[in-house]
Amino acid sequence: MILDLAASIRERYHFTLEQIASAARRSGRSPEDVRLVVVTKSQPLEVVQAAIEAGVRILGENYPEEGVTKIQSIPPQSGVEWHMIGHVQSRKARLVAEHFALLHSLDSLKLAQRLDRFAAEQNRLLPVLLEFNVGGEESKSGWNASDESLWDAFLPDVEAIVDLPHLRVQGLMTMPPLTADPNDARRFFQRLRRLRDHLASLFPQADWHELSMGTSADYPVAVEEGATLVRVGTAIVGARKIKSEKEAL
Ligand SMILES: *Cc1c(COP(=O)(O)O)cnc(C)c1O
Repeated sequence: MILDLAASIRERYHFTLEQIASAARRSGRSPEDVRLVVVTKSQPLEVVQAAIEAGVRILGENYPEEGVTKIQSIPPQSGVEWHMIGHVQSRKARLVAEHFALLHSLDSLKLAQRLDRFAAEQNRLLPVLLEFNVGGEESKSGWNASDESLWDAFLPDVEAIVDLPHLRVQGLMTMPPLTADPNDARRFFQRLRRLRDHLASLFPQADWHELSMGTSADYPVAVEEGATLVRVGTAIVGARKIKSEKEAL
């Protein structure tokens, strides 16, 4: 059973890696500049185990408690890196600061301050990406960056976050509106990249090289537009098994 699962995940994982590599080459980029995060949110532990068996090295989770339960069930020597990609409530900040290698979805100054405090207690630097809402949808997290006239409004938050001593800003993340044609997502990815360039010019003291964008629906387009991290779930591990009321995607 697990072996069958691992074999089918391996096949889809390698197919996805090939798609990423050709999208990168098409746009004059190196395939090594893009990392594939396999999203196992709402998937049972056996899917996580099969993904690791299939060679997956970076796993993405959306809910801190579910993620930590999985992290603690996998031997640390398996060498997988765990990323938090979902909205984090303030009271879950400690779990994230203690257990995850990268937070993609930092979406408020208040959360940043709590993470900074818990990271300090752990004696670690927590790498984070700032999440921006490039489509302006009510249902999406992140600072509203749907129009350039709004970009000044979040600069004080960004400046304060960049200055937090136990967080390391490494770039931006977005979850654009779902579009029927993946090409329609292109302008949202371009907007995130422009915003990244803008923030990099304003705050050169931070590292802005990561762009986390693209899911099963549109990752090749995201890579063409500069993604350095793509977050792919269903296209590799199949439909999510555990239903959650927070699953608004
Ligand atoms: C669920 C999720 C993904 C993966 O979506 P798929 O459609 O399964 O590829 C990527 N990013 C975030 C933030 C998610 O919540």
